[in-house]
Amino acid sequence: MMKLDVAAAAFALGESRAFAFAAAPSSLDMGTDAPRFCGDIHVAGTVMNTGRTFRVEGRVTACKAFVCDRCLAEGRRDVAHDFSEDYAKTTGEADEFTVFDGDEIVIDTLVRDTLLVAEPLRELCKSDCKGLCPVCGQNLNEGPCGCDTFVPDPRLAALESLLRND
Ligand SMILES: [Zn+2]
Ligand SMILES: [Zn+2]
Repeated sequence: MMKLDVAAAAFALGESRAFAFAAAPSSLDMGTDAPRFCGDIHVAGTVMNTGRTFRVEGRVTACKAFVCDRCLAEGRRDVAHDFSEDYAKTTGEADEFTVFDGDEIVIDTLVRDTLLVAEPLRELCKSDCKGLCPVCGQNLNEGPCGCDTFVPDPRLAALESLLRND
């Protein structure tokens, strides 16, 4: 777990402390739809005592492995996402802030949610990926396959058959 020690006795008002973690993706319990990562997830940031809350700000970086939605090629991409969250110790602030107990703030959920919210609906190996040929299945990024993929316009086809009948 990624824990921040915020024992009040040692943490002055206005003080800010840096933290850094490397976490195995499996430790974040992201569920069955979880993205795949090439290695550890890195988290770095600061925790500040604002008086009412501990403000946790930072950035999560990771190398993501994915399969292109269009051509099914495997790809890898470096991702970086910022997060910011206020943690309060009193339950009276629960509507506004995340509540924590004891002298530690565990940021696993914050990191996991940051990664999941940032997930795109579809992942492409490149923005102009040509995809696969619908006839032979060749990856068209590697060159044309020569298949006839012309799809006739149904309105034109109807007109042609009318003309033929005359
Ligand atoms: Zn692709
Ligand atoms: Zn083809």
